Amino acid sequence: MSFVKLVLALVLSTMLPADIPVVDRGFVAPVGEIIVVNYFNPPPRPWDSGFHRGVDLLASPDDVIVAPGAGVISYARSAFGKPVVSIVHPSGLISSLEPVIATVAEGDAVAAGTPIGTLGYWPELTGSNATHCPAATCVHWGVRRSEDNYLDPLWLLGLAAPIVLLPTM
Ligand SMILES: [Zn+2]
Repeated sequence: MSFVKLVLALVLSTMLPADIPVVDRGFVAPVGEIIVVNYFNPPPRPWDSGFHRGVDLLASPDDVIVAPGAGVISYARSAFGKPVVSIVHPSGLISSLEPVIATVAEGDAVAAGTPIGTLGYWPELTGSNATHCPAATCVHWGVRRSEDNYLDPLWLLGLAAPIVLLPTM
């Protein structure tokens, strides 16, 4: 293993929890403490199912969820039995947080850190929900550029690379 690969491996292995300096991209965690339950695991092809198009952060029901970045609330209602809040950021990125019971309305402007709701309950840990929070309660945070183009939300917090190209070790 080369020195560079060793350093990279050490960096990757010590990325979380959030005790490393956070790059300021104007985003904050939607929950107070960043404890990752499920990492981002994008599909190799956009239409593939069974992958994880976001990150799950440990949280408790009724916890206050805040806007991870500034923007306008574009969606605040239930979808498939889950309450969802989406925010369009000035860059065009869209954050979606679920299950979040909104305390904001569609069209509201928010800043990073503005409370947007409280954590609800996952309806059932079956089907696509089974890939979320298998042994804990969490908030799912997805970030997309377009319908099928998701990125790792942790990148917005400076906790992950924008494109993960792991060296072969
Ligand atoms: Zn999830």
